[in-house]
Parts: sequence; C-alpha cells; structure tokens
Amino acid sequence: MKCEKCENKAIIGNPILCSEHFEEYILKTVQDTITQFNLFTKETKICVAVSGGKDSLALIDILIRLGYSVEGLFVNEGISNYREYSNEDLEKFMRKNKLLLRTTSFQDLVGHSLDEIMNTEKFHACSVCGTLRRYLLNKFSKEYDVIATGHNLDDEAQTVLINLARGNTDLMFRGGPKSKPTNQFTQKVKPLIFVSEKQLLTYAIIRKIKTGFEECPYAQTSYRAHLRDLLNEEESKNPSTKLNILKSYLNLEKNIIKCDVKEKELCVCSVCGEASQEGICKACKLKEEIINLLH
Ligand SMILES: [Zn+2]
Ligand SMILES: [Zn+2]
Repeated sequence: MKCEKCENKAIIGNPILCSEHFEEYILKTVQDTITQFNLFTKETKICVAVSGGKDSLALIDILIRLGYSVEGLFVNEGISNYREYSNEDLEKFMRKNKLLLRTTSFQDLVGHSLDEIMNTEKFHACSVCGTLRRYLLNKFSKEYDVIATGHNLDDEAQTVLINLARGNTDLMFRGGPKSKPTNQFTQKVKPLIFVSEKQLLTYAIIRKIKTGFEECPYAQTSYRAHLRDLLNEEESKNPSTKLNILKSYLNLEKNIIKCDVKEKELCVCSVCGEASQEGICKACKLKEEIINLLH
C-alpha cells in the first residue's frame, strides 16, 4: 500500500501513511488537540505523569518536539515483573532528553507496595491504585500549572462506556481533555486523546521508544479489559467507533456544562492537610486500613 501523501510505502492503515507523514500526522493531531481545547501554552509549567509505559514516554517525546517544556513525575506502584521500563531505563530516557524526573511510590506513602497490599486479598487493585496515584500526583505537582497524562483514544472511549454501563453519572463528566481548574487540585490535561493505542504504538516504534506489551497483571480481570476487547472487535468491523464514542461524549459534555452541574465542596484532610471531600481524605483512610491489615 502506498502513502496517501507521497510515493513511499505506507506503514499504517488508518490513516494510510508512510513513516515520515505519519509522524507529521501525530504531531499535528496532538498540537490541534492542545490548541482546540486550550490545554496549555509554551509558557506553561507541565508535569508529565510518567507511568513507565510507552504512552507517557511517547507523550514526552511529542511535547518536546512541539516545543513545550516538560518535567516528569513517576509514581511507582510496586508491581513485580510488570513495567515495560525499569527505573533505570526511565532515568536514562529522561537524562537523554535532559529532563528532570521526580519519583514517588506507594511504598513511600503507605509503607507497602501494591503487590503486598493485594496479597491481603481485601482490596480491589484498580481502586487502591486509582486512589493512591491520584493522591500522589496531586501532592507532588503543586509547583506545576498542569499534569499531562498519556491517556489515549482507546482509554477514553473505554472510560465513557464504563461510566455509562455502571451508571456512574457523577463521574461521567470528569473525562475529556482537561479537568476543571480548582485551587486544590493541579489541573489534569490529556493531549493524546485523539491518538489511538495502535497509532501510539506505531509512533513509539518509529521513534525507537522501547515498547513492551506487558499489561498490568491486575488489569486482566477488570471490566476495562473486557470493554477494551469488545471495542477492538467493534472497531475492526466499524473503524471510527472509538472516535465516535469520544466525540459523542464531548458533545454531551458541552451541553451538560451549560446546565452547571453542582460540584461537591472541598475541605482539607485533618490528617495530611491535602484537599479532600470529607474530613479525612480517601488516601488517608485507605492508608490506615492497609497499615492495620499489614502490621
Ligand atoms: Zn508519505
Ligand atoms: Zn489525607
């Protein structure tokens, strides 16, 4: 198959482009997302939440090429034999690009790794991980204007369906390319939401960003993994399914925001002093449960 834009051989089928034109396409897609949703400017202090996978490293690579200044914040959950990148690989990548990488971990926060916490068989991994990650990212990003995450089109389409299927109407409109700005929480932005998983993987390969296919061992039984497979099957029959789900969501969100959904009032956690919806924040409650079980 020939590239849509030149005589060279195409390396990807959607859109049909050679490697050079594909890179150009990805950079343009991300820049258009940043501009359209007013995510940040060249002056913004951006902290990239580094997950240890290809998505966040591809995000850093793309943002640097577009001329943005970024630093990295890595939250290590403590899952053995899982990371595509070891801490060493990560540090090497950041050093090569002359970028600062901060590291924090579940171990630092609660004294135990996610593996140890899961050994108690008392918790749901994704919920522990979600609570502690969110907490650490917010706590260590205070000096930045935004936290950028590597969420891609597949992640977003899955999240829309999960919230719909579970009736999570209060969580429903927390998606999209950026969170609402508040004084207590660093604003989160997702520059890659119009780039599919497959496109990101292709980009990472072209840019020689080491990729692995390891999946979080705790994710395999999750509802998200089930929906991911369903969506991939549907997309193979009807390309643009994922994009249509995301676009429907964004249109709905635009109209709902006009109705002004009431936000819960925030206070300060009496244990750690971070922003919280209740007297003691979710992370501190979880930490206490974990410590009680593991000591
Ligand atoms: Zn071409
Ligand atoms: Zn707290």
